[in-house]
Amino acid sequence: MTPQPNALEIADLVMHFGPVRAVDGVSLTIPRGRVTALVGESGSGKSTVGRCVVRLVEPTAGTVRIAGTDVTHLSRRRLRPHRGAVSIVFQDPAASLDPRMLVGEIVAEPLRLAGKRISRRDRDARVAPQLERVGLRAEVARRYPHELSGGQRQRVSIARALISEPMLLIADEPTSALDVSVQASVLNLLADLQRDIGFACLFITHDLSAVEYLADDIAVMYLGQLVETGSRERIFARPAHPYTQALLSAAPVADPVRQRHRQPVLLGDDLPSALDPPSGCRFRTRCPLAFDRCATEVPAQTAIGDGMAACHLVRPDGTGPDVRTADPS
Ligand code: SF4
Ligand code: MG
Repeated sequence: MTPQPNALEIADLVMHFGPVRAVDGVSLTIPRGRVTALVGESGSGKSTVGRCVVRLVEPTAGTVRIAGTDVTHLSRRRLRPHRGAVSIVFQDPAASLDPRMLVGEIVAEPLRLAGKRISRRDRDARVAPQLERVGLRAEVARRYPHELSGGQRQRVSIARALISEPMLLIADEPTSALDVSVQASVLNLLADLQRDIGFACLFITHDLSAVEYLADDIAVMYLGQLVETGSRERIFARPAHPYTQALLSAAPVADPVRQRHRQPVLLGDDLPSALDPPSGCRFRTRCPLAFDRCATEVPAQTAIGDGMAACHLVRPDGTGPDVRTADPS
């Protein structure tokens, strides 16, 4: 029996916009049915990774395979049969839904784009269960996006993304444009749908507390590169990279045991510019543990379990210093 291909395989992905090195050598695999959270500050390049996967932009270098097919350089026409395999939900539903289209037309649009000719009656019959699946009444199909709340609009985006039954969903900060009061319900909906339907998901977020709802694995991105990958359990329990440790120290968590050990680490300066990233370790200008070698030598990726951390101080067993307990000097 041949093994089933992974939902997503990204290898050595590079995306430069002129002199801006938005993505600089990212490799990431998502098996079928698994959720990887791609975490990092705004400007780290994580949305650009998502956009390369759905081919909104064509990468400078590297490859993107979806369900085993290399889609990196396929023309629009040759991409068409693979379109339904991957869908994206954007951050801001107000901007991503066409205000002139009825909700029913919006949700059915991926079927039309995939070249399927369907009657209005068939379309309505396909759309109604999609709307119900995301917690909306079927009548919403006859409304315009502006007649709905932000949370309802994002549910429409999710219904549209899932109508083609994709193997892979890219969710790019799906709740960060929504009122805090509805963020949890939309995340819970995504988590429930993922469990029921079993699609793989690349969940892009700057918010580590959202990851607890919806991730099997975590990939931490800093200035165009991955600095740490691993299971959610391992990374929450034993983050190895100083940047991951700092992010976790600042994220609110529900677990009181973890809360007790936490000591927020302030990273100080903003993210350096992707025009001219620091030499050696890109995190060194903000790392509380940086030393001489960090400026001259790019840290290798040290394997830890199923993942890795790229820091000179991380030992092969995954242990190393923790910026949350290190003495301030
Ligand atoms: Fe900090 Fe150096 Fe490790 Fe980079 S390599 S995270 S600067 S200690
Ligand atoms: Mg973004």
